[in-house]
Amino acid sequence: MANNDSGSKNPATQVVTGGRRKIWTGAVVNPPVWRGSTHLYDNVAHLREGLKSNDDGKFFYGRRGSPTQWSLADALTEMEPGAAGTMLYPSGVAAISCSLLAVLQPGDELLLTDSSYDPSRSFADTFLKRMGVTARYYDPMIGSDIAGLFSAKTKAVLMESPGSLSFEVQDVPAICKAAHAAGLVTLLDNTWATSRFFPALEHGVDIAITAATKYIVGHSDVMMGAVTTHDGYWTHLRRTAQQLGQVVSPDDAYLAARGLRTLEVRLRQHEASALKIAHWLKQRPEVGLVLHPALPDCPGHKIWKRDFTGSSGLFSFELKDGDNQSRAAFIDALTLFGIGYSWGGFESLALPVDPGKHRTATEWTASGTLVRLHIGLEDPDDLIADLAKAFEHYHSAKS
Ligand SMILES: *Cc1c(COP(=O)(O)O)cnc(C)c1O
Repeated sequence: MANNDSGSKNPATQVVTGGRRKIWTGAVVNPPVWRGSTHLYDNVAHLREGLKSNDDGKFFYGRRGSPTQWSLADALTEMEPGAAGTMLYPSGVAAISCSLLAVLQPGDELLLTDSSYDPSRSFADTFLKRMGVTARYYDPMIGSDIAGLFSAKTKAVLMESPGSLSFEVQDVPAICKAAHAAGLVTLLDNTWATSRFFPALEHGVDIAITAATKYIVGHSDVMMGAVTTHDGYWTHLRRTAQQLGQVVSPDDAYLAARGLRTLEVRLRQHEASALKIAHWLKQRPEVGLVLHPALPDCPGHKIWKRDFTGSSGLFSFELKDGDNQSRAAFIDALTLFGIGYSWGGFESLALPVDPGKHRTATEWTASGTLVRLHIGLEDPDDLIADLAKAFEHYHSAKS
C-alpha cells in the first residue's frame, strides 16, 4: 500500500516504526500473526464491496494477505524513497522470476549482467528461453556503453550490484539512464546493500528486488523475497504476483518484520566487522585481491563510493597461489565460520566460489582461488584469530 512518507524520518527510526499502524497492531507493539485463508464478510453486500479494490489493507482472502504481511510490505515500501508498494514472495528467487515474468513477453530480449546470481541465469537460460525470450549477458563494468547492446527486441535489463560472488559494482544510474532513453525496464537485485545502503529507485531503478532471506530476516530462519516498485509498474507487478499465486505465510512475515526492527544496528555491525577483517586479510602474504566494494581492489570501488551509503558483511578474497585442495583445507579449518549457502544472518559463513564457471560475456582472470566470507555478529577479533589459524592449515596443505 502506498504510504511513503520516508522523507520525514531517518533510517534507524524508519525500521523501528515502519508498518506499525494501530489498526493492524491493536494495543501490542508488534503486528500480531493473523493466520487465515477464509476472511469472513458481514453480508452479501460487504462481499461484493470486497471485489472492488485490490489493495493491501483490505480483507479479502488469505492469498491477498492479512495485517501481518501488509505491515511488513508497508515498512519495506517506506524504506525505499519513490516507491508505490512492495510485493512479498516465498523466496528471493521467486521475487526475481515473478518480476521478470511481469515485464517480459515472447519475442523480447533480456539483458543480464555476467555477474548474475546463478539461479537468475538459469531462469533466463531455460524457463525464459522456452517462453521465447532471449537472454544476453553484459560486462558488469559496461556503464552507459550498454546502449550499444540494445536491439529492437530488448525489453529489460536485470542488474545485480555488487555481484554476489565477484562484487563488481555497476554504474546503475548510467545503465538506467541509457535503458530509459531506449524505453526499457530496469530491474536490480539489491540484496547486498538493501534499500538502506542503496536506495535503488532514487538511482533510476524501476523494480528493486531483495532476497529478504538475507539481511531483512537476518536470523537465517526464514526464506522470503521482496520487490518494491514505483507507480509505473506497481499495479501490474502486484497483479502478476497474484496470478502466479505468490503469498508468504503470516508466521514468516512476522519473523521478517521482527528481523527488520534491528536491521540498522545489524548492518552497521556487519559493515564494521567486515571492513576490519577485509583490511586484515589485505595485509596477509597469502592473499591477493580482496573483492570488497569498499576496498580499492574491487572493480567499481569508485562507483560504490559515489552511490552507496554503506557496505554490508559479504565479500570475497583471493588465495594467491591457492588450488582447490589448499582452499578446502583453509575453509575446513575454520571453526567460527559455517560452510553453507545463503548469508545475511547473525552468523559467519565461508564458501569456496568460482565465478569463472558461470561467465559467458566476460573472462574471469584472477589466477588464485576465491573464498567468499559472510561476516556475522561475532567479535571480529575472534573471527580474525580463526582465519589466522586456518592459514596455518592452508600452508600445511600446500607443502
Ligand atoms: C540468496 C540470493 C538470492 C535468492 O534468495 P533466496 O531467498 O535464497 O531464494 C537472490 N539474489 C542474491 C544476490 C542472493 O544472494
